[in-house]
Amino acid sequence: MAKNFHQPQRMCLSCRGRASQSELVRMSCVDGKLRSFHGVGRSFYFCRNCVEDEKRVVKALMRQCRNNRKEEHLNKLKEIITDDRKS
Ligand SMILES: [Zn+2]
Repeated sequence: MAKNFHQPQRMCLSCRGRASQSELVRMSCVDGKLRSFHGVGRSFYFCRNCVEDEKRVVKALMRQCRNNRKEEHLNKLKEIITDDRKS
């Protein structure tokens, strides 16, 4: 497989698949709350396939944010995805 040095590969937190950053949705967890990434805190990525499978993503989010705020994550996730589609 050819390497593309201009597009660093990032790992999807859910399926562990690798993709370039532009194909992934970047999020972060601040004080246990899910956020779209704004340069603060630890960030992580989900690929666009996984993002469609909300239940699976939320499981990974609860692990990542270290809490069980399932509904909260789910609502925020939908918000982030909607914003991501607009841009
Ligand atoms: Zn994935």
